[in-house]
Amino acid sequence: MWVCMLFVIGMCPSAVFGWGFWAHQRINRMAVFTLPVEMLHVYKKNIDYVTQHAVDPDSRRYAVEGEAPRHFIDIDHYGTYPFDNVPRKWKDAIEAFGEDTIMEYGIVPWHINHAYYDLRDAFKSKDLLRIMKLSSDIGHYIADANVPLHTTENYNGQLTGQKGIHGLWESRLPELFAEGYDFYIGQAKYLESVQMEAWSMVLESHLALDSVLRFEKLLTGKFPSDQKYSFENRANVLVKTYSKEFCEAYHRMLAGMVERRIRSSIIRVGSIWYTAWIDAGQPNLKELITKELIEEKTDNEKRLKIRDRESGEIGMKESAWEMLFGSCCGHGMESCQRLAISRDGVTKPVMVQEAHSSHD
Ligand SMILES: [Zn+2]
Repeated sequence: MWVCMLFVIGMCPSAVFGWGFWAHQRINRMAVFTLPVEMLHVYKKNIDYVTQHAVDPDSRRYAVEGEAPRHFIDIDHYGTYPFDNVPRKWKDAIEAFGEDTIMEYGIVPWHINHAYYDLRDAFKSKDLLRIMKLSSDIGHYIADANVPLHTTENYNGQLTGQKGIHGLWESRLPELFAEGYDFYIGQAKYLESVQMEAWSMVLESHLALDSVLRFEKLLTGKFPSDQKYSFENRANVLVKTYSKEFCEAYHRMLAGMVERRIRSSIIRVGSIWYTAWIDAGQPNLKELITKELIEEKTDNEKRLKIRDRESGEIGMKESAWEMLFGSCCGHGMESCQRLAISRDGVTKPVMVQEAHSSHD
């Protein structure tokens, strides 16, 4: 049994936002290159913004009421594929199941559609900061909807004795293998219905779930525990993680699934940005190219508390330290780097073990 521990690793700010966010950032970044020339220049100028802010929604999860359900949908709570009993439109869904239930089991497909309308309106008003903020956010939600484990109640394998699989699939595998992936995926396409596109992401992701769980289980039967896991030194902290050999075997069995889901995310992010621009009446964005983004500081957004489904496990409640950035950073299965703040305002990076919250 893994022991829940908190390791302080000293001042090392650059490590806080390390490679754990890699996939979200890469998806937003590569989506820029799917855009038509009328949009490309302004997005290219701000490509670092949409890259860096790709993980903002995770950072808000603990501070903003109603943020957490935007990242997932436990679609299997409602029945079996293709879940025809779940209304595709928000109002119908609320009518059918009630808002409490809908919020409890996640709203990602509906929220992507809400965010698309906001982005369309930002294009109409040519508000550069809002366009880039909303583009960054929507990229995050789309990427989440493309992860099979964001579409199930068994989001971390906790119902099937496979706890840790969430980080294995969405962080550990990309960390080890994404260098060889091909992220060029052609041009963004106009979507007749963003709402239905969001649903097709969720349904595709859910269809892949069976393989995600089954292959891990199969391999676990072949790998003794001391070969399934290994210890790695990260920022001077020894962390237990899935061994490279186990990951290689799992990645091979998945036969390109992680790459396919990342590519599918990229083209969909670009296509929804593009559709929002078209539906705003194709405003001329040339005048925005020379504008500089001026960001306001929103400390409240970043002052986060741990109160997620699993967060009680790490015993931080009595601590004098509060987490600033609540995102599960995905160092494999049970290790997270986060930024903590003391009551008198001192910050420091910390390594948290077995603190994964689901659906980040
Ligand atoms: Zn997320």
